[in-house]
Amino acid sequence: MLFEEVIGQSEVTDTLLAMVREGKVPHALLFTGIEGCGKLPAALALASHLLCSRPDSEGRPCGHCQACHQMQRWVHPDLHFIFPVYKPKSSGSQALSDHFIKEWREQLADSLYFSLSTWFNRIGLEKKQTLISVAEAEHIIGKLSLVSSQGGHRVVIIWNADQMNEATANKLLKILEEPPQGVVFILTTSHPERMLATILSRTQRIDFPPIAEETLSEALVARNGLGHDVARQLAHIATGSYTKALEQVRGDEDQVVFFDLFALLMRLCYARKVKELYAWAEQVAQWGREKQKAFLDYAQHMVRENFIYNFGQRQLNYQTAREADFSVRFARFVNEQNVISLTDELAAAQRDIEQNVNARMVFFDLALKLIMLLLKGSR
Ligand SMILES: [Zn+2]
Repeated sequence: MLFEEVIGQSEVTDTLLAMVREGKVPHALLFTGIEGCGKLPAALALASHLLCSRPDSEGRPCGHCQACHQMQRWVHPDLHFIFPVYKPKSSGSQALSDHFIKEWREQLADSLYFSLSTWFNRIGLEKKQTLISVAEAEHIIGKLSLVSSQGGHRVVIIWNADQMNEATANKLLKILEEPPQGVVFILTTSHPERMLATILSRTQRIDFPPIAEETLSEALVARNGLGHDVARQLAHIATGSYTKALEQVRGDEDQVVFFDLFALLMRLCYARKVKELYAWAEQVAQWGREKQKAFLDYAQHMVRENFIYNFGQRQLNYQTAREADFSVRFARFVNEQNVISLTDELAAAQRDIEQNVNARMVFFDLALKLIMLLLKGSR
């Protein structure tokens, strides 16, 4: 895979290519940037450059050697992946990425741009929290203690590295600082602020900016066959994330459900239909915890967008056509009287869900508070 296949990010990929050409690739890199800006594709491209056995004078992979062929299917024996998983019930063993490598390669074959929640859906995650476990750290240390299969580089990609807990991170410190000869760690994260300082200090950080709107729009035309107008509109909503744009293109199921349930919640609260609100809370309580948290994220986004809507500056809004349509009548209920409290209550509910408070209680309680806050806003 070439760096040209990464959308935008030419400044970053030029830097990486220069490192390869000069043989100065750091042994531990940290790619940071918003979800969907291309950190994983860039990591895969870098790995392709490092693992090719006959690169050209510019350091680019030949595309024909055995290693390059293996990289086309991401099955090169010296390419290792670590990503958030859960402990599978059946295998009776630990939470290891290797148990999910088949699903991971299927995902990469589908698209190199995908979100954490897409990954969770793919591996059938319900209720359980995913993580990168200590067992995972021990496993990779064990693997790297063996000699490389072809005597060249070995690459370890840790996707969403902020999902390592403290024990996992601590376990990896030593090998990150002094990895065996030829080993390159590439960590990616959208949340560097959640990572231990000790990890940050042992990695060379490379910041990926959001993808420029124009570049994103061009990619949607070229890769997804969209018309120019639609592509421009989607690129604007996607705020620098190709993953987000793709979700819009696919009419992402969750997003549609989220919109419907948010709109329903607001209508029921406004009409003070407590019995129906209880049923609403029961419905949302059936979901897994990650989906509940994602919904509350979405609800906060909706509150913000509707507040902004009132200022009549449409270019400041990031909404789909359906959402904008809803705002025509709803936006006036979100105003200076209640916008902060609304956001606070949604964030508080999110914390409660995170801490495992009974979901039906959290959502019903939230609904009751929203009744009051919407009333406050309509005065
Ligand atoms: Zn090659």
